[in-house]
Amino acid sequence: MRKYLLPESGQFYKANLHCHSTFSDGRKTPSQLKELYLGMGYSILAITDHNVFVPHPELNDESFLALHGTELEIIEPVDHPDFNLKKACHFCMIALDPDISAIPSFKRWEYTADCLTDVMQTARSNGFFVTYNHPCWSRENYEQYTAYRGMHAMEMFNGGALTTGYGDYNPRVYDDILTKGNRIYCVGSDDNHNVCPDPTSRKFDSGIAFTMIKAGSLDYPSVADALLKGNFYASEGPQIHELWYEDGRVYVRCSEADRINCFRRCRSDATVMAEKGQTLTEASFKINPGYGYFRITVTDAHGRHACTNAYFPDSL
Ligand SMILES: [Zn+2]
Ligand SMILES: [Zn+2]
Repeated sequence: MRKYLLPESGQFYKANLHCHSTFSDGRKTPSQLKELYLGMGYSILAITDHNVFVPHPELNDESFLALHGTELEIIEPVDHPDFNLKKACHFCMIALDPDISAIPSFKRWEYTADCLTDVMQTARSNGFFVTYNHPCWSRENYEQYTAYRGMHAMEMFNGGALTTGYGDYNPRVYDDILTKGNRIYCVGSDDNHNVCPDPTSRKFDSGIAFTMIKAGSLDYPSVADALLKGNFYASEGPQIHELWYEDGRVYVRCSEADRINCFRRCRSDATVMAEKGQTLTEASFKINPGYGYFRITVTDAHGRHACTNAYFPDSL
């Protein structure tokens, strides 16, 4: 029987789930961000200023939804004056209910896996969608990120970090976390600060990475429900139109691609490549339940990726 991994019904809405405004260190006001992102085809923006939690319902209309959240930071307590040499854990908390007006108070606040797990789980149990952000920029490694529990998702792409030269396209981090048994989603975000004002510049940090959310309608409860259910994929450009599982195979239909990969917890041939000078728009892969999760990556001719969430045969 066919099971849609991205819902058959509903509509895709383009979203940026990590964004800074003049309420912290971003250069654009929330209304300027709305104008910018609407112009780039987005419908959803989570404004997640550093240590500031402000709802922006005045931005909402039939074509735009502002989610409200914040980005928090816990820094490694090493005695060194240079912040750039310290590890830091950054995570966004996005309110899943428009009426949430404050973040919870956290009992502990220290750079340990225990404490970060406690903080993320407290955020989660208080109605927030928690994303683990830009592990490369944060200089965190396997030991840290595989020990955190409580996040709903991690950033597969962080546009701001990619624009400034960090390696925050994070498929290996995602596989490491999944392989440790932590069943989380992946998102693409800009983390834009708009320090470079020129939209034609390669340093312009809006419109780099995004999340395509499939929801019944563009309203807060429908989008929050889609986030919780994982009805989305992350991308730098390519689009995934359909994704389903049927009789032990996963099927994907997508925009024109150079290759389509199926990543699993195993070593096996899982790539379909277009012939030279041609493109692909679909593929299917056999899924062996013994290999644990699977996830699909679509890569276009420019090397840009779209990544699905991981799926688990034991729950399909
Ligand atoms: Zn950050
Ligand atoms: Zn940020």
